[in-house]
Amino acid sequence: MLKKLVLFDIDGTLLNVGSINRRILVDALQEVYGTAGSADRHNFAGKMDNMIIYEVLQNTGLCEAEIAEKFDRAKQTYIEMFRTHSRPSDITLMEGVRELLEELSARPELMLGLLTGNFEGSGRHKLLLPDINHFFPFGAFADDGENRNALPPVAVEKAYQLTGKKFTEENIIIIGDTEHDIACARVLNAKSIAVATGTYSSQQLKKHNPHVLFENLSRTDVVISEILQSSIN
Ligand SMILES: [Mg+2]
Repeated sequence: MLKKLVLFDIDGTLLNVGSINRRILVDALQEVYGTAGSADRHNFAGKMDNMIIYEVLQNTGLCEAEIAEKFDRAKQTYIEMFRTHSRPSDITLMEGVRELLEELSARPELMLGLLTGNFEGSGRHKLLLPDINHFFPFGAFADDGENRNALPPVAVEKAYQLTGKKFTEENIIIIGDTEHDIACARVLNAKSIAVATGTYSSQQLKKHNPHVLFENLSRTDVVISEILQSSIN
């Protein structure tokens, strides 16, 4: 019955989080390390939360060992602060996302999952606030690997553990808003659907050769049709 695995990125693809996300990261790092490094201006798009913490602190001269020593505390502090302080009004769902998820989840041949640079604790909360978390029975998160390209095989393995089905490359679709999501699809030789609702314009995304490129996910029928025709050439 199950035929295809559809993996979604979170930020810039399913939703946008307001400035609170950056403010909370700054506060959490300040509390744990006494500095937030370049967190107030760093480009987060498509990056793993764990890598972001290392990058912004290395920009202030902290070395890797110093960051690693307090990393778990910083991660937990950030997740707890995010859960405590973020509100539904901080999240904006992208156009068409709720309708798309409702339609996709009603199709028994499709398995939905997450492939995201978020930590699971904060990423799940971003989905809970607008009530779309239940669409995703599993996901690969920043907690699951050193870098984003390590996550696609993790997602496939988790899907297998959950369903007993080994999804093969022609039956996997990865949907995201940055070149890093397109690169993830390439890791598995899966189909990439890029969407220009994040910080990358469609012209920028086009340079990275996604299989499909949408301005947004609002044309539900067209998006579903691309997901179903997932054999890649
Ligand atoms: Mg993204």
